[in-house]
Amino acid sequence: MSRTGGNSYLYGLLWNGYDYTHQAWVENGVYVRCGHPESMKCSCYGKTHAGELSLERERNLGKRTERESSPCLASMRLSQSK
Ligand SMILES: [Zn+2]
Repeated sequence: MSRTGGNSYLYGLLWNGYDYTHQAWVENGVYVRCGHPESMKCSCYGKTHAGELSLERERNLGKRTERESSPCLASMRLSQSK
């Protein structure tokens, strides 16, 4: 498994990959604890929110609105009314 190929999203939410907004890794939809030792007392998002559901959303959702209307349904109704 490689993490270099980009993030994977489920229903528009980050499922596996890196949350750039909060700078934390996400695995199976939840944040993963950072790899820093306890003595560092870091305040990473991945540490304070480990195990919580990802809040990072897919950035290109707007591109999906183009295919909302289906021309197939319209043509089906026309052929049935004849
Ligand atoms: Zn950390």
